[in-house]
Amino acid sequence: MFRPVVILILLSLIVRPALAIDYDTLRRRMVQEQIKARGIRDERVIEAMLKVPRHLFVPERYRHRAYGDHPLPIGEGQTISQPYVVALMTEALRLKPTDRVLEIGTGSGYQAAVLAEIVREVYTIEIRQTLADRARRVLKELGYKNVKVKHGDGYFGWPDAGPFDAIIITAAANHVPPPLLRQLKDGGRLILPLGEVYYYQTLTLIEKKGPKLITTQMGPVSFVPMIGEIRRRHTR
Ligand code: SAH
Repeated sequence: MFRPVVILILLSLIVRPALAIDYDTLRRRMVQEQIKARGIRDERVIEAMLKVPRHLFVPERYRHRAYGDHPLPIGEGQTISQPYVVALMTEALRLKPTDRVLEIGTGSGYQAAVLAEIVREVYTIEIRQTLADRARRVLKELGYKNVKVKHGDGYFGWPDAGPFDAIIITAAANHVPPPLLRQLKDGGRLILPLGEVYYYQTLTLIEKKGPKLITTQMGPVSFVPMIGEIRRRHTR
């Protein structure tokens, strides 16, 4: 009578491990199909994306979709960016191993981890306390000692830690916060989704060359809005 039950239990013990998701394979496939195939060439960016366990930065119920070609919810109405967008923005910053980078919008901490694989120091600011705390914990658990997470409004940057070789804003802004431009080194690069906050923005790279700012538009992207001080200002 109980034999079928025993057989089922035994079967599930054998089949379960086979059903476990092979995240390494998913990650390699993601890099091949979404990153390399779309023209990302910087070896450091490719290596970093092969290494960082993206599935550990998303809520458990979305883990199986972590390597898909799309953003995912991370709580508080916020999202982790699509893998390709992370790669594109990181490559555009032309990072060197000795660089110090500032990120505005820590979110899950994934972009910060990718940066931390490439550069010496990463400073990242998150305005939502729960996200800042969670990202700090995940980054610590994964052993990222060169990332500092701060809870606060990234509009003002991190004056004590600046100036930076590169700055990345991962929330939509209708202007570049002037304090961030001040904290960018001469020769430094800043990238952000610039434009009206709802729906699409233009991925914009700004290079500081002495008194000049050289702007390159890199195409449409869709990010969640930057909040806080930026909403109280009208500078463009
Ligand atoms: N880079 C993140 C995704 C960013 S989502 C990742 O890799 O997961 C955008 C994040 O910017 C959200 O978490 C949002 O809370 C944060 N944010 C919005 N306005 C901000 C501000 N003024 N300062 C710092 N963070 C801000």
